[in-house]
Parts: sequence; C-alpha cells; structure tokens
Amino acid sequence: MTIRGGFMGRLQGGGETAPFRFSDINREALAILWRYLRVHRSRLLLATLATLVVTATSLSMPYMMKVAVDTMIAQGDLRGLTLVALLYLAANGVYWVAVYWQGYLSSWVGQHVVYDLRRDLFDHVLQQSVAFHDRERVGGIMSRLTNDVNAVAEIASSGSLALVSDLISLIGIIVIMATFNGRLTLVAMASIPVVMVSMGYLGKQMRRTYRDVQQALSDVNIGVEQGVAGMRVAQSLSRESFTVEQFQDLSLRNMKANLRAGLLFAAVFPTMTITNMLGVALVLGYGGTLVANGAITVGVLLAFLSYVYRFFGPLRELSLVYNTFQAAAASLDRIGDYLATESEIVEPARPERPGGGFRGSLALHAVSFGYDHTLVLEDIDLDVAVGETIALVGPTGAGKSTLAKLLTRLYDPQAGVVTIDAVDLRQIASADLRSLVTSVSQDVFLFADTIRENIRYGNPEVSDTEVVAAAKRAQAHVFIQKLPRGYDSQVGELGAMLSGGQKQLVAFARALLADPKVLILDEATANVDAYTESLIQKAMTEIRRDRTTIIIAHRFSTLRQADRIVVVDGGRIVGEGTHTDLIRDNAIYQRLYRREWATEDSA
Ligand code: ADP
Repeated sequence: MTIRGGFMGRLQGGGETAPFRFSDINREALAILWRYLRVHRSRLLLATLATLVVTATSLSMPYMMKVAVDTMIAQGDLRGLTLVALLYLAANGVYWVAVYWQGYLSSWVGQHVVYDLRRDLFDHVLQQSVAFHDRERVGGIMSRLTNDVNAVAEIASSGSLALVSDLISLIGIIVIMATFNGRLTLVAMASIPVVMVSMGYLGKQMRRTYRDVQQALSDVNIGVEQGVAGMRVAQSLSRESFTVEQFQDLSLRNMKANLRAGLLFAAVFPTMTITNMLGVALVLGYGGTLVANGAITVGVLLAFLSYVYRFFGPLRELSLVYNTFQAAAASLDRIGDYLATESEIVEPARPERPGGGFRGSLALHAVSFGYDHTLVLEDIDLDVAVGETIALVGPTGAGKSTLAKLLTRLYDPQAGVVTIDAVDLRQIASADLRSLVTSVSQDVFLFADTIRENIRYGNPEVSDTEVVAAAKRAQAHVFIQKLPRGYDSQVGELGAMLSGGQKQLVAFARALLADPKVLILDEATANVDAYTESLIQKAMTEIRRDRTTIIIAHRFSTLRQADRIVVVDGGRIVGEGTHTDLIRDNAIYQRLYRREWATEDSA
C-alpha cells in the first residue's frame, strides 16, 4: 500500500527511530538535492509564489467576514456589504486558482526530481564495480531507487512548500488574532499543546505501524519469491520449499499490521475533530462573554472562530512533518552515500592502444588478489601467446574463476599487473576492453527476449543472416530450428525453457558474433548427454579459432583441446604443461585426474 503525498504520505518512510536533527543531514547530500532542484528553480519560485498567494488569501477571508459584520452590516451599508461579498468571492477565486498552481507546480518539480535522481542513481549503480555489487543486495538497491527517492522528492517540493505555508499561516493567524484581542488569542491557543501532543503521538504510532505494514508486505513478497523459485528444487527433492502454513502465517501478519493501521487511521479524524472543537468551544465560550461585556464585536468573534478553524490544519501538518523530515533526511543520506561511492574500477585518463591494434597476448606478472583481507591469488605469473588455448584446472575454490575475473577487469589486482599485448588493463579504455575480451560464464544469462536478440546482444548491428551463421558455427542452429518459433522463440524467464547445454551453445553463438581477441570460458560443470557434449566440443573448436582462449576446464575432452594446461591450487600456479607432462610429474594434477577424469579417459 503506497500513499503519495498528503497526510498519510507523510506518515510513511524509512525505518529510522533515531531522533532527527537538522545538523545531522549530510551537507553533501543537501548539495546533491539542491543540484536537482536548481534546474527547476523558476518553477519552484512560481510554486512558492502560488503558496504565498494561497496563504494570504486564506488569511484575508475571516478578516473580510469581520469587516462585513462589524462595519457594513452594523452600519447598514448595503453597497459596502455587496462590495465585501464580491471581494470575498474574488479572494476565493484567487485562492483556488493559486491552490491549483501550487499543487500542479510542486508535483511537477517533485516528479522531475524523482525522474532525474532515479535515472542518475541507476546510471551510477550500473557503473559500479563488481565489488560494489558483491556488497550490495538487489533489494537494497531497489529500495534506494524507489522508497528513498520518493521520500526525498516529497520533501523537496510539496513538503517544503507545505512547511513554509503552514508556518506563515500559523504566525499570520496569531498576529492577526492578537491585534484583535490578546486574551482571547491566548485562550484560543490553549488547545495547541493538546493538538500537538495527540497528533504527534498518533503520527508516531502510525509511522511505526506503517513500517510494520511495509515489512510484512516485503516478507510476503519474499515468501512468494522463495516459494515459487524454490519450487523446482523442492519438487525434485519431493518436499515443499515453502509451506502453505508458513505463507499463511506471513499473510496473517500482513493482515494484522494493516488492520492496526486502519484502526489508527480511523482514530485520526475523531481526534482531529475533538481537538478542533475544543478550541472552538473555548473561543465561543470566552469570546461570547467578551461580546456580552462589549469588549469585542460580534464580527471579531466570527473572525476568531474562522481563524481557529484555519489554525488546526497547519498545526496538524506541522506536528506530522517532523516525521517526514526525519524519514527524508535518512533517505537523503543513503542516496548521498550511494552517489559518493566511486567505482573501484577507474577509467584511464589517457587510454593506451598498441600501435598495430590489439592482437590478444595475455600476461599476469606477480599478481596477488583478495576479495577482502585474505589473498585468493598469490604471486601469479602467466604468459599466454596470441591464439593459444589454456585450460585452467584445479580443485574448487582454488582461484580459477577469480583469475578469469581479473582478465576481464571485474577487479583490479592488489599487487602485480595484468596486461594484454603488454598494455596494463588499467590503461585500456573500458569500451576497448569490452570488445577485446569476452567471457562466457557457466550460468549463462539470457535476457527475456527472442533467441535471435539474445545472440545478437553482443553486437546489435549484425544481420539476421549473420546471426544464423554464428548459430550454425556454435552448433545451436539445429535445436533452435526445432523450437516452435525458431529464432523468434521467446526465452522463458531466465532461459527456463532451454537446457543448460543449449544455453551454452546460444552463449557461444553470442561470443562468436562479438568476435573478441580473447575469450574466457567457464565450462559448465553440469552433466550433459553425450550428443550435447559432442556439440559443445565441436562449437568450442569453432569459437577458439583465431583467438586466445582461457578455459576453466571441467571435462577431460576439453583438456585434450588445450595447448597448455595450467594447474591452480590454493591461489597459486602449481604446474603447467601438456596432459602427458603433468600426469607424469605433477602430484596435484595426478590426484585431480584420478578423481575427475580417469573414468572419462578410459571410456
Ligand atoms: P574456483 O573458481 O577455483 O572454484 P574461485 O576463484 O571461485 O575458485 O574462489 C577462490 C576463493 O575466493 C574461494 O575461497 C572463494 O570462497 C573466494 N571468493 C570467490 N568469489 C568471492 C567473492 N565475490 N567475495 C569473496 N570471496 C570470494
């Protein structure tokens, strides 16, 4: 349940309980906000103007009432009375036009800030290094881009304008009332603490309840996701991933939280009315005596009553606005933190390119790397010639994938240097690097689009004929043709309708079209049938042709294709050579061979 703007909107927001102080707001975050607002400053100025007009006309109406009663009616000046009535009408007209523009302009600015901020944040998130995405969870990124941006935009436009208008109204009303009668003003003010305290309390309760509502809703969503996503695994193990009871429990919690919110919301209107009436009753009672004593006129009493009515709206808003600002400040902080995160992968200021263009020789010199403080790769030295095929082998967790990630510059090494054609990867423009090195991972990611578009993905300009040619070379053409709609078949959610082997073949076709100088291939560990296996091997021979290839190998047939096998263990290179060399004198390789491939080899 989302409520934008207004009374209920102000009750929602982040989940912070720490007291809010303006000094807590990150200055940089405020500067960021200003950068987004500044672009729309003329509209913001107009909105402020409209707000001032709204406030001024609103304050003038009770005063006109007083003039009408005390001056015109009392003196029987009917012409004057008509004039005041017309003026009142005109003031009302101006008021409503200004209300319209204030509303329109402030949401215009607010929505544009949301739009710009969200676009830039998304851009920023996409530019972050893989290390950032290792740290941050998708849910966190989503909530930054939705809840936080909304909370900030609300404050940035309509929230601040409402604050301005509320403050001016309150001060204006007090000043005008005080000029009429000081004591009656004090009596009228007596209900302020009651309103502030009761609304402040209700507001706090509601915020807490809404937090519960949102949490419960998010739990229900997670429940749905877990239940549906885990279904396949669960069914194959013939048990239920997420029981109906568990889900009902979450649903029940969601319902209870919503009921509590409903109950509180139902209490708001009566509380407001009761406190309003308290003020009105006080003014009527004491003011009435004053009129009877001749201390004030009937017109003043009327104006007072009208002002007291107008007083409670802004008062109520101000007692709630604290909560909104608290939420917005926290959101602004979180957004600021995000925008301040620089990608660890820095684009070179002056990118380098070898004279004759890149050819694809690779080298790692004294490379050490760790994701955090523990080293995962230590002192790696490796040279790969142009066109050579290297198979990386080693036990799970040895560091093979990490080594491959350094070659695509998903991470920079902590020590040593990775080069292509003797140029440090850190000096290669990221666009160059992307076309130079392609990596095909084990779990192929296919977009929710047609097979054709998925193959074309690396190189959008290629023709349909080239797509088919690439699919043929990648041994994918035969199975694609058998699909109900051929190349136009939609890939199901996350490629669900293709087998693991078929997805690999599609990825190979995609890599062929991208035509990189260096190919990094993480061979799927999953078992495939003999036929698919033969297709994969054939496709691999095709895609390795004329390029440097690094394969994280899991199959013996792949090792046979490699020019050189590199054995990795515990983050170090512990052996290099052909199968014959290694089986003869590398103990780690011998062990691997016995465990993984001996049966395959003899078969
Ligand atoms: P391999 O590919 O040989 O199985 P990896 O390169 O995947 O090995 O992993 C090497 C080590 O680095 C393992 O101990 C693994 O737990 C750790 N590791 C891998 N990826 C990350 C990551 N994103 N963050 C932290 N540690 C990681």
